[in-house]
Amino acid sequence: MLADQNSKNIDYDIIIIGSGPAGITLSLQLQNKNLKIALVETGERYYSENSQKYYKGKVKGEFPRRLDEARLSMFGGTTGHWGGSCRTLDKHDFLEWPIKKKDLDIYREQATKIIKIKNSFKDESINKNLNIIEYQQSESYFPDDYYPKVINSKNIHLFLQTTMVEMNGENFFTSSIKCYSRINKNFFYLNSKIFVLATGGIENSRILLLEEKRNKGLFSQNLPIGKYWFEHPFKILGQAIVDHERLKKNLNSSFDPWVNLFNAGDNSETYSFAPTYDLINKEKISNSCCWLVTHERSYKNWKNVAKNLFCLTPNISKKLLKKFGKHLLCGATIYSTWEHEPEISNKIVLSDEKDEFENNKAMLIYKKSKLVRKTARVMFEKIGELLIEKDLGRLIGEDFLYENDIDYNSEAGWHHMGGTRMGNNEKYSVVDSNLKIHGSKNLYVIGSSVFPTGGHANPTLSILQLTLRLERHLSKKFTT
Ligand SMILES: Cc1cc2nc3c(=O)[nH]c(=O)nc-3n(C[C@H](O)[C@H](O)[C@H](O)COP(=O)(O)OP(=O)(O)OC[C@H]3O[C@@H](n4cnc5c(N)ncnc54)[C@H](O)[C@@H]3O)c2cc1C
Repeated sequence: MLADQNSKNIDYDIIIIGSGPAGITLSLQLQNKNLKIALVETGERYYSENSQKYYKGKVKGEFPRRLDEARLSMFGGTTGHWGGSCRTLDKHDFLEWPIKKKDLDIYREQATKIIKIKNSFKDESINKNLNIIEYQQSESYFPDDYYPKVINSKNIHLFLQTTMVEMNGENFFTSSIKCYSRINKNFFYLNSKIFVLATGGIENSRILLLEEKRNKGLFSQNLPIGKYWFEHPFKILGQAIVDHERLKKNLNSSFDPWVNLFNAGDNSETYSFAPTYDLINKEKISNSCCWLVTHERSYKNWKNVAKNLFCLTPNISKKLLKKFGKHLLCGATIYSTWEHEPEISNKIVLSDEKDEFENNKAMLIYKKSKLVRKTARVMFEKIGELLIEKDLGRLIGEDFLYENDIDYNSEAGWHHMGGTRMGNNEKYSVVDSNLKIHGSKNLYVIGSSVFPTGGHANPTLSILQLTLRLERHLSKKFTT
């Protein structure tokens, strides 16, 4: 139900801060256990400029977005404008995690139901270097799909337009949070036995950095909060001239077709290539995915024929195209996204600027690693070799792949991971394998900020799997 913001001193079993997919899912799962839950959300039911202002912050380095465009503050969180692409992490993505893929796989069926997709993420081997992999596309819109369920639940109190501004407690026990209601324009406190921070992949770090500065008694000191932050860089690697029929015949998989990826048109086809674990090991590259996306074309169209000819003579055509200021389009485009390895220098810190509550805003410091470019180059070459070997087409790569001096802008900035990573060692991690902050008795974190590494898969399905695992852990606390 919508919370009565005038009621005072309510004691909850669990307070969840943030109503993105993680916070919503956790509250809906826990309400079945007959627990009293507060879901505290700074945003409104839908987007508003007023609440979005809360997400302003600073960026230093190579991150391609403003912090207030890279995430959304509203009921449903950033899924208010997400792309809906879903994929599970690979087994080898878990090497640095304190849990294994199988620990999350048990929640996959349930998570795919919540996100309204098929539970099918196949990998098919093409050769020793490459797999073709399967994605699912979710049409779920959390703000509408789950709002009625939340407000019809008698066990969930939803506080909208309510910002958590401070945590209180001592002896490593968090006892209450201080909130500001933009509806009543006043501060108030909520008490609980357990607190879960579900405020997204940047804010989770910012809030813990603020609390570390303010109160030494909530969790262990000197945790690497905000550090080892990473995202999934994304970039076009090149163009291809392909024989569509031979591609279909040779790379036909049993997967559902993924049409119109990146608005390529309803007759486009997508082939998603990922490196085998052998290739990752042999070439010492990161995990990644390259999408070869064919364009809708008509050979009757002379412009397309000309474009294809340009592809066959790339050097001359590039000069010509430069002269005419056009992009080379040759029937297919190769897009790629990569794993970015966690580096201590990539981090969320507190900036000097303060918000309306006198809390420091977030600053993201981020630089792409050399490994990203190397991974792109190796994957591009392996796909090129495959096209030649089976005579399916030819590739033309972007200059940045081979010329280290050429800087390249990633067009990503949407998946925010790390900063409160999971692990057993307090030197390298912030939460334990049950997502409780090291040293704390009752403060938990959920979201992609707990990922120790991020593979290349879009994060939300894994966030939901982790959320369901956290729900099971928390439920046990109230039954034992
Ligand atoms: C353009 C775009 C496209 C994307 N596409 C995909 C995709 O195709 N596939 C995929 O898997 N992922 C995608 N993502 C990422 C996806 O949106 C996130 O992984 C997901 O929303 C994270 O969920 P979350 O619940 O952890 O956090 P969020 O969704 O970020 O929710 C956090 C919530 O916490 C609230 N909050 C923050 N601070 C406070 C506070 N102090 N007090 C109270 N409330 C607070 C916020 O208002 C927000 O509602 C995309 C993201 C963007 C921006």
